[in-house]
Amino acid sequence: MSLKKQLENYFTFTEKTSGSILYFDTLPEAINVNKKNKAILKPANNSNISIKQSVGTNIFELKQPQKIASVKAPKLDIEAIDLSEIKTLEELEEAVANCKKCPLNTARKNTVFGTGNPDANLMIIGEAPGADEDEQGKPFVGRAGKLLTDILKAINFSREEVFIANICKCRPPGNRRPNTEEVYFCEQYLHKQIELIKPKFILALGLTAADTLFKSSHKMADIRGKIFDYQGIKTMVTYHPAALLRNPNWKRPVWEDVKILRKLYDEEVHD
Ligand code: SF4
Repeated sequence: MSLKKQLENYFTFTEKTSGSILYFDTLPEAINVNKKNKAILKPANNSNISIKQSVGTNIFELKQPQKIASVKAPKLDIEAIDLSEIKTLEELEEAVANCKKCPLNTARKNTVFGTGNPDANLMIIGEAPGADEDEQGKPFVGRAGKLLTDILKAINFSREEVFIANICKCRPPGNRRPNTEEVYFCEQYLHKQIELIKPKFILALGLTAADTLFKSSHKMADIRGKIFDYQGIKTMVTYHPAALLRNPNWKRPVWEDVKILRKLYDEEVHD
């Protein structure tokens, strides 16, 4: 991609995430320009992704996806959901729609199963529905949802091409984080979704999504910009769009992360 195109994409992304205010008085690292006037995209510090440069092009090299050191999930004295008979996403969606396994079922208007391509190579996983999502029964449809759509668009993905879901399928009251019991129940649906969709890549948005998948807690600074091995699926973690709305300074790391994800995706997936 030409430098001009990269700059255009970056400023379009900046405008979408933060309006017309520019937050950098210098060009961000993601599009630093070297002496030969080539754009350089940098993975985060300690990343397991490196860059080789050939003529005018950045080639991303992924060393082994990093194994995450997971701790044992807390033992809760509650029954697992039997999803062994479920063979399709439609059947799973119906099971979710009828689910009353955790207290979140009482206040919901709609369950939010997830939307997108059932054969997606990229699955996006967030935390839980908010008010707009609960109202419409679809994930990421409020302000944060619009931002997610724009982020995807900036790296040439449409929402229809990927599959978007959350850890929890019902809205926690007051948009609080889902608690341990709610996550324990609902992540079983997520695991089944992943098993049925079989994505090659996962983008986990925010620490709730990452910590639920990895069964361990982290700081975002330590895990973003790397590729992890989650059950054989290359998984990247970045900030949740809602966090990005609160703190526009995080748009730069998100931009860096999703551009690298796109590159790795292109190198692996040949449609
Ligand atoms: S949040 Fe998940 S486990 Fe809880 S009631 Fe809704 S679908 Fe069921």
